[in-house]
Order: sequence, then structure tokens, then C-alpha cells
Amino acid sequence: MAGEPQADCLFCKIVAGEVPATIVRETETTVAFRDINPQAPTHVLVIPKTHYPNAASLAAAEPQVIADILGESREVAAAEQIEDTGYRVVFNTGAGAGQTVFHAHLHVLGGRGLQWPPG
Ligand code: AMP
Ligand code: ZN
Repeated sequence: MAGEPQADCLFCKIVAGEVPATIVRETETTVAFRDINPQAPTHVLVIPKTHYPNAASLAAAEPQVIADILGESREVAAAEQIEDTGYRVVFNTGAGAGQTVFHAHLHVLGGRGLQWPPG
């Protein structure tokens, strides 16, 4: 059921401490940790502690938590000192957009020039 931990979900396991991650921030509702395969000098994922398969389903069920995630992305950018140089926040949604982990997560990317449009 959406919102409940999923036994086979990698990011639920990170929330539970069952899979190690380099956690940079944690709140009551969110966890932020470094991406294992960084695509930029700063590449942090901000996730809800509750399980939803993507950002849209999270927004529909728990709009305050998706707001918390965006607020946390700002805190990450400030801590990483990429606010002035610029950074990108991305919710890949669906396999066709490159989503590979089906627990909602916001990518925070920065520390280098970022091309637009993305590939
Ligand atoms: P997406 O492709 O948007 O679903 O993003 C999933 C991201 O999770 C990818 O950028 C992966 O590199 C990252 N990832 C996968 N496994 C781990 C892990 N154990 N710890 C941290 N990041 C991970
Ligand atoms: Zn999950």
C-alpha cells in the first residue's frame, strides 16, 4: 500500500538503515543522501520516508511532504555552496524518463555547468 514501507524497495531500506548510504540531512519526513553514481560534483537524492512510486503519487497523497522535499533541496544546495552557481532539481518519472528506483526521489545536481535541454 502506498505510504507503507515496501520490503523490496532499495530506498525504503536506506530509510530503515538496512542499506548503507552517505546521509547528508534528515528530517521527520525526509532523508537526503549522496547518489552512489554521481552525475555532477554535487548529486544528492532527497526522498520521503514514506513509500510512493513517484513524485506525482506523493504529491497527490501527501502534498506537505513533497513541499518538505523541495525545502530540503534548498538546504542541500546551501550546504553544498551551489546556490550562487546554480543547480537543478529533477524528479524522473517513469522508465521512459530514466526512472530506475520506484520510490519518489528528487535529484539535486550542481557544481558544474548543466546543459539545457537535458538529454
Ligand atoms: P532514477 O534513475 O531517477 O530512478 O534515480 C535513481 C538514482 O539512485 C540513480 O541516480 C542511482 O545512481 C541512485 N542509486 C541507486 N542505488 C543507490 C544507492 N544504494 N545509494 C545511493 N544512490 C543510489
Ligand atoms: Zn520505498
